[in-house]
Amino acid sequence: MVQLKDVNKWYGDFHVLKNVNLTVTEGEKIVIAGPSGSGKSTLIRCINGLEHHQTGELTVNGVLLNNNLKHLEQIRHNVGMVFQHFNLFPHLTVLENLTLGQIWVLKKRKQDAIDLALKYLERVKIADQAYKYPGQLSGGQQQRVAIARSLCMSPKVMLFDEPTSALDPEMVKEVLDVMVELAEQERITMLCVTHEMGFAQRVADSVVFMDQGMIIEQTAPDEFFRQPKTERGQQFLAQIL
Ligand code: ATP
Ligand code: MG
Repeated sequence: MVQLKDVNKWYGDFHVLKNVNLTVTEGEKIVIAGPSGSGKSTLIRCINGLEHHQTGELTVNGVLLNNNLKHLEQIRHNVGMVFQHFNLFPHLTVLENLTLGQIWVLKKRKQDAIDLALKYLERVKIADQAYKYPGQLSGGQQQRVAIARSLCMSPKVMLFDEPTSALDPEMVKEVLDVMVELAEQERITMLCVTHEMGFAQRVADSVVFMDQGMIIEQTAPDEFFRQPKTERGQQFLAQIL
């Protein structure tokens, strides 16, 4: 579903992704971990074309990400993204946040868009907030709206970049619960940058550990949290535990 072959990226002179190889099959759930600055967000952002890699091949659902705008459009259709800071439209209600893309990008009828939006708001346990504005919701609620908004676009792949790290501790669980449910119930392919070990252990097929722009190891979660294969993995784990 997502494949990277020898992907390299530079910011100016700074080599941020170094020969990254990664294959994520349909329905697979991957957690990406690693120290700050190791390139996790950059990697995630390259997968939906928010950042451009310079060399190597990146394909999503068989579509090669290159200068062809048609390809970029197809990939964006297939890939949903949830950010650390929610990125909701503040001047639109929750429901409007969820229907906008469906109507303008997917060209759906308004009522169909509303029906699907309400279904997903129900799924993330927030249907009663549909007519509020994002600013009137808690962080945890806003993040659940962001997840529902992504789901409304029927993505094949969902990317999460530290979806719980901007939340107050008491709101982390409600968002993780929604993500666990999603992972367990949908065949959707997930790549999630997080240091939430409980989440990784429950849903991830493997943990990809990055350091200094490289994938250092890819290990089953049980094994990674017990004993990473690499010394750098072990050092990292010692720091976050
Ligand atoms: P964190 O855990 O802190 O979110 P990360 O693993 O997500 O870190 P990235 O945000 O991918 O790391 O950044 C990787 C490196 O690239 C960092 O050294 C960062 O300073 C640098 N970097 C990120 N974005 C840019 C940019 N737009 N221009 C130049 N350098 C950048
Ligand atoms: Mg990051």
